[in-house]
Amino acid sequence: MSFRNNLQQYIDNPGHELVVYSDEHTVVIEDKYPKSVCHYLVLPKDDAVTYIHPCIALKDKFLREKITPAIEFAKKLAAEEFVKRNLIPDTPNLRASFCNTYVKVGVHSVPSMANLHIHVLTRDMHLPCMKNRKHYNSFNTDFFVELSKFDEEIETSSDESSDSSSSISSETANSPDIKSSPPRKIQSQLPISADGRISGSIDGNSRIIRVHSDAAPRTPAKLKPNVVTMRTVSHHSKTTKNTAVQQISDQLKKPLQCWHCTKTFGGRFVQLKEHLRGEFHGRFHAVD
Ligand SMILES: [Zn+2]
Repeated sequence: MSFRNNLQQYIDNPGHELVVYSDEHTVVIEDKYPKSVCHYLVLPKDDAVTYIHPCIALKDKFLREKITPAIEFAKKLAAEEFVKRNLIPDTPNLRASFCNTYVKVGVHSVPSMANLHIHVLTRDMHLPCMKNRKHYNSFNTDFFVELSKFDEEIETSSDESSDSSSSISSETANSPDIKSSPPRKIQSQLPISADGRISGSIDGNSRIIRVHSDAAPRTPAKLKPNVVTMRTVSHHSKTTKNTAVQQISDQLKKPLQCWHCTKTFGGRFVQLKEHLRGEFHGRFHAVD
């Protein structure tokens, strides 16, 4: 089994030691290569979803409802960990504030792993597994798509799916009956194959994004009707796809910049990392 499929084992075995949460729809694991003090991955279990590109799958409100408990659990677990380490005071308000301001939730626009996974991680970004510019920029540029971004698109999709010639009540417009909606216009210029699966990957060593024709290792189960229709994606030309991949790749090469104070570091990753460590210790008065 290739490295890209390594997350499947946690879906198949929720008893694995890295699994911190499991329910009917999801498992949550501790990232094996944490980039931050707390770094979790939320993995939807459904075979029909797991090989759909995240930027498509996460526009589906049914999926979002299914994974929300796991995401909330992961955020609270991060707060719990910071309380345990005496980094934040143990009050409900401060825990909530921590979750809202210091925990990032989102996906890579070109995931390196085949199974759909949502990152939930604290913003410190200074752990040993944060090793290079690509790692940092993958979480701190537009390469990283915040989950909240899809909230807007779900709302937009609901609006688009309604009949513009009639006045539809907000209750109807927000109806979960996506099955009856016309195909949505996919705005994404991401490398997605005709069936919505991921068709690009990042080379972990060379920082180059490759496009290949079939990234998924096995045929996903039959797609459920409520999964976003992929029809418009199939019209993407190879040229468009390559341009999009290049634009995404460029995000990873951007000059380094502290997410907090915006100080720039160019290509000086070691200095950025030291700076991030200082930011962390200054903020939480942490001692190594
Ligand atoms: Zn800074």
